[in-house]
Amino acid sequence: MQSMHYLKNYINGVNCDALSGKWIDNYNPSDGSVYAQIPDSSKQDVDKAYSAAQAAFPAWSTTTIDTRSKIMLRIADLILENLEGLAKAEAKDNGKPLSLATAVDIPRASANFRFFGNGITQFASKAHQSVGLNTMNYTLKQPIGVVGCISPWNLPLYLFTWKIAPALAAGNCVVAKPSEVTPMTAYLLGDICTQAGLPAGVLNIVHGTGPTAGQAIVEHPNIKAISFTGGTQTGAHIARVAAPLFKKLSLELGGKNPNLIFADCDYQKMLSVTLKSSFANQGQICLCGSRIYVEETIFEQFKKDFVAKVASLKVGNPFDADTKIGALVSKSHMEKVQGYIEIAKQENGTILYGGKPVEVTGSEQGYYLQPTVIEIQENQCRINQEEIFGPVVTLMPFKTEAEALKLANDVKYGLSATIWTSNIDRTMRLSKDIQAGIVWVNTWLNRDLRTPFGGVKQSGVGREGGFEALNFFTEAKNVCISYQGNI
Ligand code: NDP
Repeated sequence: MQSMHYLKNYINGVNCDALSGKWIDNYNPSDGSVYAQIPDSSKQDVDKAYSAAQAAFPAWSTTTIDTRSKIMLRIADLILENLEGLAKAEAKDNGKPLSLATAVDIPRASANFRFFGNGITQFASKAHQSVGLNTMNYTLKQPIGVVGCISPWNLPLYLFTWKIAPALAAGNCVVAKPSEVTPMTAYLLGDICTQAGLPAGVLNIVHGTGPTAGQAIVEHPNIKAISFTGGTQTGAHIARVAAPLFKKLSLELGGKNPNLIFADCDYQKMLSVTLKSSFANQGQICLCGSRIYVEETIFEQFKKDFVAKVASLKVGNPFDADTKIGALVSKSHMEKVQGYIEIAKQENGTILYGGKPVEVTGSEQGYYLQPTVIEIQENQCRINQEEIFGPVVTLMPFKTEAEALKLANDVKYGLSATIWTSNIDRTMRLSKDIQAGIVWVNTWLNRDLRTPFGGVKQSGVGREGGFEALNFFTEAKNVCISYQGNI
């Protein structure tokens, strides 16, 4: 019999229960068991977290860049020192293969702190002289104050730290809420921050549901900026709540990303990367290329080769070394994805592979689904227009580059796009005209943290990454000084 874990909020450097004393069940998706309880925090807990953050702000915002940077780098080191434990916690909480959490999620969480710990040392403001007016202008980049960070369940520590690290580096204090579905690694991060010497109150982590704890962060009149990653509908709701409070908002939302495959591409490289861009993390990455369009001349060949590769992916317990597809994050999410497979049948989609739940021996109650490939007839069908966020891709042929572009853009989202071609002119044309915040050519999920990250259309507002994130978490103030004489 496994012992139950009781997670705590991390407020003012102290682990504490929700003031209400209430708890929420936390499930292990790989076997369907409840293995932890998390605090069901309310507005009162958010208020308490805010007070701690507000009290910590004057000292933290005036800490030297060198000190701040050293603490951030120490957090990065400690995340790596705890890699194994964090990766196991992430795999258990989320259902993702342990190999993926070990190779990608946790190292990236460390990299986020390292990147912004270093980045803040280069984040200098500019000055310019207005000759003739006899004025000198310079820009102060001032931390905003107390900011809110709200993140989703698919890449729990990866995305949580992607927000927190730049916010802290820029001198803000933070009230953060991870998804209630995957709270474990955010909980573990609290102790790591204390060990690294982060002063009490600078980072506060409040667990609980979106509509209660999350909403309280968004509604708090003195939490002046919200960095949110999650679904488009939730993002729209947050924008409505935050607008009358004049909060700064960064919204990283859903995607339904096109993967355009031309006959002149490096076929073998394209095949293996497309397998990843379709099904990595069970297809639960906002950047997955879930709409695959293939040039007609290679469509039948691609179908055959791709389906053969998909069939070879092992669906299994996240802790098995050869598992490529782990468990979906929750029962309700599994039901949602299965619902889309039923819709595909009604829409006359042809299921080329998958579509069925998988019973994993020893983990029979887990949420496992076959990777699923569906050939569609129409671009405008629900499974090709709505974000499924699971191991399901659609396939469709195209004849010309112009048609491919039209199909790619014919969707309400605009997060990322992938193009496979060896034609440089085509690359330049399509990259310019595709409606997306990120375009990958002959690669996928290749991330340099200095580059801007974010979407257009219903995929969001604002950019993260590099100085974009540090700009978001600061207010630019211009100072204009009049002087006499010639200098
Ligand atoms: P949700 O929008 O349901 O939730 C995201 C976060 O918001 C969670 O912490 C959630 O809490 C919280 N939340 C929910 N309701 C509110 C509210 N009223 N006020 C404040 N916070 C709230 O998204 P999911 O967690 O289901 O994540 C999947 C979605 O995230 C997909 O659409 C995916 O595309 C998107 N995503 C976008 C990325 C990007 O960079 N563009 C990257 C990764 C994912 P709780 O979980 O407790 O309900």
